[in-house]
Amino acid sequence: MKAIMDKPFLLSDLVDLQEIDNLIYSINQQKKDSNTVVNLKNLETEYKSLLVDKNLKKDILTDFFETKKDLNKKLQEIEIKNDNITSNITKRNILPSELENYQKQLTINEKNYEELLSKIDQLQYENKEKLTDYELVSEKLNILKDDLVANSKLLQEEWNKLDKKISDLENQKNIFLNNLNADLKILYKNLKSNGVDVVAAYNLGDQCGCCGVDLTSSELEQVQESKFKQCPYCSGVIVNV
Ligand SMILES: [Zn+2]
Repeated sequence: MKAIMDKPFLLSDLVDLQEIDNLIYSINQQKKDSNTVVNLKNLETEYKSLLVDKNLKKDILTDFFETKKDLNKKLQEIEIKNDNITSNITKRNILPSELENYQKQLTINEKNYEELLSKIDQLQYENKEKLTDYELVSEKLNILKDDLVANSKLLQEEWNKLDKKISDLENQKNIFLNNLNADLKILYKNLKSNGVDVVAAYNLGDQCGCCGVDLTSSELEQVQESKFKQCPYCSGVIVNV
């Protein structure tokens, strides 16, 4: 009964299994080394250095931004005052003397408003070069941000495709393991858990196909006589071509 249940003891099955593992490994490498990954890393580096640059240029303009904010606030205050005056003027029963006062205030406010506007112009003019520098770097940073987003999306799509391939191969591997001879399955799992990189490979003349070491004729003889035909150096299974 047991003989019927056992799956055939074929060392070459281990080579096929190793090939599936190699494919999984190479796809994992692709995930790490693809052009998109390299591009994304470069973009991130560029983005970080531009951000530092932008902040430096912003720091240089600290006084400018504060003064401008202050001037804008004053402009707004005048606008509010003038709105109030305008609504008061349009009220019924306003006394001529009041009207005159309001108009005087309006004239003064308008003059102050003009002065503030020309102060802002002057401020802009004095900081023109620094502002241009700052705006340029900000613009570059925005473009780079879009590139980063687009590249991240691209990488995600690439990885999804590769992950699908990996999961298909893992399924294939599980089916393979289920149909593998019980002794070979145990050997495979033990070697993998012991960190053996190449579990099985065909021999290359007198060389171990797993690690590439040249074996002496007595070593080869010992390997051939053993059940699992493992290389004395790397423990990998040497399968005869
Ligand atoms: Zn070896």
